[in-house]
Amino acid sequence: MSAQRRASVRSDTTVVEEAAAVAEAVEETLPVPEPFGRALRRKRVLVFEAHGDDMEFTSGGTIAKFADRGHEVTLVVATDNDKGSFELTAEELRAARDREVHGAAEVLGIQRVICLGYSDGELQEQAPLHVLRGRFMRIIREVKADIVFTWDPFTPYEGHPDHRAVATAANEAASFAHFPLYYPEQVREGLEPYYVSEQWFFAKAPRDRNKFVDITDYIDKKIEALYQHESQMVLTVQDLQFALRASGLEVPWLADLDPHDYREAIDRQMRAVARAVGRECGFEYAEGFRRTRFGVIPRLAEGQEPAEDV
Ligand SMILES: [Zn+2]
Repeated sequence: MSAQRRASVRSDTTVVEEAAAVAEAVEETLPVPEPFGRALRRKRVLVFEAHGDDMEFTSGGTIAKFADRGHEVTLVVATDNDKGSFELTAEELRAARDREVHGAAEVLGIQRVICLGYSDGELQEQAPLHVLRGRFMRIIREVKADIVFTWDPFTPYEGHPDHRAVATAANEAASFAHFPLYYPEQVREGLEPYYVSEQWFFAKAPRDRNKFVDITDYIDKKIEALYQHESQMVLTVQDLQFALRASGLEVPWLADLDPHDYREAIDRQMRAVARAVGRECGFEYAEGFRRTRFGVIPRLAEGQEPAEDV
């Protein structure tokens, strides 16, 4: 735990109690026969991201689809998001982004948001791997997460240190949360080890994708969720304009765009990306992931395919 953590960040105890309440509420409502089709039961989905908006950019349509089908979604934001602006102070930005994260979660149907409050861009320094992995494992065990979404720890060329830190800690926490001898103090406190059956990694490169989700019915919701991140949408346009000016090339609609009038540019960019992924799999709009699930069981159960939730 960093000494720089702010008073507004909720304590571990509060987070754990709230997460346990969510898990209990889900238990009470099981089983849910419809509209899950071949899916076995309602799942608990847990998203670990470094910054508010990582999830919306990479998997907002898929998360909206999970929520819309009745699965429980909890979002964990590791940092306080206070570096991403050319015009706001860090204080102003933290307040704005807290509102934005919760606004976007509401659009997507996410039940709970847990903010860990580490300083943006300094996650590796503030939370060494064993610390962050332990915090993530505690949340997995409390929520009883079936499916974990996060950045991919094994993809090359990931430039952001916060993304790499979250990816590694989340992957290791999800892989060993059912081992009682990992972080045994959590088990002694009464937390049960829990088996995470699926890990979905955000896949920016085509070669990493082995699971596609048709988000044609959810692209509007994904874009609407991104619009909630107003400070980051302004930043996105401004960052494009920095690159444009440096390039010496001419893109008049971008050069003349007021960054606060970002909607059309973001809409155009998001649809172009989702359409390109869709072309890889035959959907109009899609998101792609590197997914691992159920270990080697699908190979042992010859001729059988595990059910799909989305
Ligand atoms: Zn990020």
